[in-house]
Amino acid sequence: MSIYDQYEAVVGLEVHIQLSTKSKAFCGDAAAFGGDQNTHISAISLGLPGTLPRLNKSQVEYAVRLGLALNSKINQRNFFDRKNYFYTDLPKGYQITQDNEPICLGGNFDIEMKNGSRNIRIHHIHMEEDAGKSIHDQHPKYSQIDLNRAGVPLLEVVTEPDFRSAEEVDNFMTQMRQLVRYLGISDGNMEQGSMRCDCNISVRKKGATTYGQRCEVKNMNSMRFARKAIEFEFKRQIDLIESGGKVLQQTLNFDAATGTTSPLRDKEDAHDYRYFPEPDLPPVVLADDYIDAIKTAMPPLPAQLKKQFQKELGLNEYDTNLLTEDKSVALFFLDFVKEYSNYKSAANLVINKILPFLNEKNIALSQFPIGIKNLSAFLKLIDDGQVSSSIAYQRLFPELLEKPNSAPLELAQSLNLIQSSDIGFLEDLVQKTIENNPDKVKAYQNGKKGLIGFFMGEVMKQSKGKAEPKATNALLRKYLES
Ligand code: ADP
Ligand code: MG
Repeated sequence: MSIYDQYEAVVGLEVHIQLSTKSKAFCGDAAAFGGDQNTHISAISLGLPGTLPRLNKSQVEYAVRLGLALNSKINQRNFFDRKNYFYTDLPKGYQITQDNEPICLGGNFDIEMKNGSRNIRIHHIHMEEDAGKSIHDQHPKYSQIDLNRAGVPLLEVVTEPDFRSAEEVDNFMTQMRQLVRYLGISDGNMEQGSMRCDCNISVRKKGATTYGQRCEVKNMNSMRFARKAIEFEFKRQIDLIESGGKVLQQTLNFDAATGTTSPLRDKEDAHDYRYFPEPDLPPVVLADDYIDAIKTAMPPLPAQLKKQFQKELGLNEYDTNLLTEDKSVALFFLDFVKEYSNYKSAANLVINKILPFLNEKNIALSQFPIGIKNLSAFLKLIDDGQVSSSIAYQRLFPELLEKPNSAPLELAQSLNLIQSSDIGFLEDLVQKTIENNPDKVKAYQNGKKGLIGFFMGEVMKQSKGKAEPKATNALLRKYLES
């Protein structure tokens, strides 16, 4: 047994979620990602003296939405604090955040793992603003500063140290991203930094009841890197302890190129920031009615839809996960099955045809050409035995994509795809097949009943897929066995 097997990792996250509000947290500047450098700015973003912040209602509403989704207690009287530090991309010299009385307290998030689920406790959620961006690699001599991001509204979700593996962290972040997208509060785009997390990592002997000293790896916006950072820290800290050393509480930087961490600075304590209540913003007081209204308007959430898809529609877990990954797909599917009640066929059509089509064309579901009525009519042709399922998918569906507003039945007729159970038509084919294969007929009659498949195949081929299978099968047996 390796020494590493005697330890377990303990991880707590501070997740930053950039909100998709129109304007910034405390002024009217655009909060959108990107834009020419230093164009989404004003006297307030620049931190000029004499300017005053004002609250963005959407930020508060989004925080409450997330809090309700995570079973937090909404703190009906919360307020902002100043976190003071000097940095060139923070022109005010302080960040407006919440320290003492954050907007959401406690909560939990059930995350799905390969085998079962894990409940991760939430410590709190607070509102704050982002800093600007320092750019160190664009100019040979100088660092540059882009303040477009300065003042963009963030929520920070702080978890309890409940994670025990990098995989749990990965799943949590992926499912949190899905949640914020369902809630419509953030695009959850990690590559653009809309979601990033600080990972607090410590190790302890398995079975221990107290936590070890932790290090904090800052600003992970790729789950692949976060996994690597956690795995690297896990070994580094154990090696350190096993060789008689002590883990120091430090803030670390993760270097993606080498896959290693290195100290950025010693951990600062709360008193280093001289937190104090923000005097320019009054406390945020939330009435019961206000919270109830947000509760009532909550969109359906992934966990709830998954339950519904499995319990009410009888779909398996695999299909359910694919259909609920994206909110627009899940809601589309619910509309679809209002129109068409063979849920499994509907699921297959969405999963095997529609989603791959969207992927290939790189378009949104809203741009998918065929409407629900025609999709239902298409599937009903198969259910009613009018078009064989393979012909329907291979020939009719592509045609329908080209002419999405034509009635599937008429299209099938014009392409001559309608299956026939017309006895005259089938008898002809069956007789021909039997005449052409005297050896196989003899073998069948001598007991090789499996050959029925061969005869079916022949008739199908000759009919170009139009022979209705049940009637064909009955006719073949009649002729072969008479
Ligand atoms: P601070 O306010 O100094 O950043 P907190 O105690 O509020 O510290 O914790 C911040 C984060 O660190 C939380 O996500 C928490 O779960 C995590 N954390 C706290 N103690 C440990 C530990 N021993 N090991 C790993 N993570 C920890
Ligand atoms: Mg912290």
